[in-house]
Amino acid sequence: MQALVLPEPGRAVLAQIPDPIPQPGEALLRVRRVGLCGSDLNSFRGLNPLVTYPRVPGHEIAATILSLPASMPETLARTLSVGMDVTLSPYTHCGHCSACLAGRTNACQFNQTLGVQREGALAELVAIPVERLFPATLANPSLTLEELVLVEPLTVGFHAVARAQVTASDSVLILGAGGVGLGAVAAAAMRGATVLAVDRNPDRLAVARQAGATHTLVPDADPAAPAAQALAEQIRSLTGGHGPGVVIEAIGTPETFRAAVELVAFAGRVVYIGYAKQPVSYETRLFVQKELDIRGSRNALPEDFRAVIAMLAQRRFPLQAAIGCIVPLSQAPAIFERWQQDPGAFTKIVLTLDDCQATR
Ligand SMILES: [Zn+2]
Ligand SMILES: [Zn+2]
Repeated sequence: MQALVLPEPGRAVLAQIPDPIPQPGEALLRVRRVGLCGSDLNSFRGLNPLVTYPRVPGHEIAATILSLPASMPETLARTLSVGMDVTLSPYTHCGHCSACLAGRTNACQFNQTLGVQREGALAELVAIPVERLFPATLANPSLTLEELVLVEPLTVGFHAVARAQVTASDSVLILGAGGVGLGAVAAAAMRGATVLAVDRNPDRLAVARQAGATHTLVPDADPAAPAAQALAEQIRSLTGGHGPGVVIEAIGTPETFRAAVELVAFAGRVVYIGYAKQPVSYETRLFVQKELDIRGSRNALPEDFRAVIAMLAQRRFPLQAAIGCIVPLSQAPAIFERWQQDPGAFTKIVLTLDDCQATR
């Protein structure tokens, strides 16, 4: 089958690789759409220490079921059938680490994400354990392929909002309105919270407003400049002088990690989704003085997938604005090249594999 392969950092090529052979308990899927996110760009650039090469990237997937295992758990046998469109959870869990034992399988110590530690889905076919499939028909009306491909990236922000225990009485500041931040905006808005979104990119903020952000704010280019103070002032005045009760950090820089604890209200909650690549130094006094709850948020749980599917079925999420472009797999090597030259120029890139599979 045809696949997009990263043979080494900095190169993406189309190649023929063997078809996957489904193991017991696995469904064989025909891949229809694959979304790209920052972690795929990091894999291409050789910046993700968890990736080994050669590697097939891709973990945001809409696919059609080609075959199912002969025997399946009763509940799945009732909801899955051949020909059905699905999305899937790209994570694995070991079942015996402390996170798994606590039911928090998303934070498994030994997780292997599709396209990171294991071969991903930028290929015509993929074999996946049936428990990890979420059919389009979970919602009514059922989701389209374009909606299915957005589920996984949105779940990450949904999980962070669940970790922050956001309610309708909260004001929630979300730092970063990229794919992950956008999911947090939609999730917090769905819970009825007042949502403030901060991003340097006005196009992203426009999408965030459509996804339910009450206020959108652009920071100054230099976080140390007096304007950073102006942003803090603006945020305080929008939150009754207290600062937001919840801050969700979805960027991953030392500045935004620090800003989260500086901007949050006393007795507030801070949730980190971003991965800071450098060490961060803190005024830890603020942790104590404000008596903060500080939590990490990683990947997502099955309930987050179901929540996103239900949200998308309401057809209020700005799908068209959230997807930047849909291009055929044949253009994938060129798009990786252009994307790395100017990462800010692209919103969500979605690849369609329908062309190369006309014969299947
Ligand atoms: Zn992703
Ligand atoms: Zn585990």
